[in-house]
Amino acid sequence: MGPQGAGKGTQAARLADTFEIVAISTGDIFRANIKGETELGKLAQEYTNKGELVPDSVTNDMVRDRLSQDDVKSGFILDGYPRNAAQVTELDAILRDLGWELDGVIELTADRGELLARLAKRAELEGREDDTEDAIARRLDIYGEQTAPLTAAYGERNLLVQVDGIGEVEEVTERIVKSLAAQLG
Ligand code: AMP
Repeated sequence: MGPQGAGKGTQAARLADTFEIVAISTGDIFRANIKGETELGKLAQEYTNKGELVPDSVTNDMVRDRLSQDDVKSGFILDGYPRNAAQVTELDAILRDLGWELDGVIELTADRGELLARLAKRAELEGREDDTEDAIARRLDIYGEQTAPLTAAYGERNLLVQVDGIGEVEEVTERIVKSLAAQLG
């Protein structure tokens, strides 16, 4: 977990390499569907462009489907899911149905000034359609209102690993790996 621009995608990919597991990014799945002009993509685009969350009914089904595939059986890291309380409940239900448990929840932290600077840079480099000023502001607001409060519940479940997301990419990965080992064993 972490606000847009905190480095979730980059770190999820690096952790997937380190632990030889699959990284699953709900944002990437939506973007692939938008590019491929699928029905799911057309629906998602109405929301992603504005920085709004895609409705839970759509997102939850997509995640359930993805987690039912064979390549996740030896482990996975979710990037960008869950993002609200209903998705936390659904993820618990999906994992219960599959007979799995969450090992940990990583929260990458960064202040708003740093995030806005990083997102402005990403907008230049990647030209993502939702990296407009309005959509960025909306996503950061939604993160603060709906997603950030979820970490407290994961903290109570002794699953939360908070890591400072500011620094070199390699340095942040090292911090995450060390914190995971220290906190979760
Ligand atoms: P991201 O790449 O994680 O920033 O996601 C890009 C966009 O995809 C978000 O702004 C949402 O519109 C949508 N999205 C990604 N993950 C979710 C989710 N868990 N729930 C709802 N919408 C999502």
